[in-house]
Amino acid sequence: TFRILHGSRDMALSLVELVQHFGFIEDTLKVIGQRQTVRDVDDAPVLSRRGGSVEFRNVVFSYGKAGEALHDINIKIPAGQKVGIVGPSGAGKSTLVHLLQRLYDIDSGSIWIDGQNIHEVTQDSLRQSLAVVPQEITLLHRTVMENIRFARADATDDEIFRAAKAAHCEKFIHGLSEGYDTIVGERGTKLSGGQRQRIGIARAFLKDAPIIVLDEATSALDTESEMEIQRSIVELMHDRTVIAVAHRLSTLSNFDRVIVVEQGQIVEDGKPAELRKKGNLFDRMWRLQAEGLAAE
Ligand code: ATP
Repeated sequence: TFRILHGSRDMALSLVELVQHFGFIEDTLKVIGQRQTVRDVDDAPVLSRRGGSVEFRNVVFSYGKAGEALHDINIKIPAGQKVGIVGPSGAGKSTLVHLLQRLYDIDSGSIWIDGQNIHEVTQDSLRQSLAVVPQEITLLHRTVMENIRFARADATDDEIFRAAKAAHCEKFIHGLSEGYDTIVGERGTKLSGGQRQRIGIARAFLKDAPIIVLDEATSALDTESEMEIQRSIVELMHDRTVIAVAHRLSTLSNFDRVIVVEQGQIVEDGKPAELRKKGNLFDRMWRLQAEGLAAE
């Protein structure tokens, strides 16, 4: 490869362009790695963006031979609804949101966004309809500016500033040695857990997708970061469909709906207050957490 690069300036240039285009090669590779089983069908149309309704119809999925991870899942989420997914460890919560992103193809059933089967549209257009805020975001060894632009390569500087402001990032970014030009990531300036999460939220604002997938962090941050993050998440959720894997159940009181998953099946589905009154799994989990907090 070196010799080819050396011998052909043009090719070296186009490689540089390629890297710039994909930008963040490590993440690109990671995404490709996760998607190795998934391919666009021939002449796949793009997913046309509407309000962001989601439907799972009789979805069955297993990771290879290990047995079914999800059995016959049926969920209908109207555009704009805020839904929390809860359940014990290993129940299938992350699998559910991974399938919505089509990181894997399902064994049977179908998944729909705005009436379009996600299996049949291009993965690129599917990805543009979903903004995922993961538990732990990957920061690239690049500037803060580029790290936010990761969500949408063609974003203008102004759009990035607006997204950072909406995610309450501005104050800490201005406090960094070079502001938006500070190199962060593995070998750059280290950001705290809360700051990293806010960069993740800024990315989601920049993407401006109709559907937000939140994977709530298992460990709580310090109270101040936590409050700032909750505030920006509430703003991010406005006018969008939200599907949140929730570990801390107290964050669900403002949600329209909670879906409780246990051993790959939906065992409860309703408004948080209603599920608490029923006294089943959700209520037991809620009370256990409340007792845990009181004991701290
Ligand atoms: P947690 O709260 O601990 O994150 P979860 O409810 O998100 O759990 P999943 O991660 O969706 O649970 O896992 C559902 C089931 O699928 C579990 O039995 C898990 O061991 C299995 N599983 C998850 N990911 C894989 C994988 N990549 N390969 C094989 N099995 C997997």
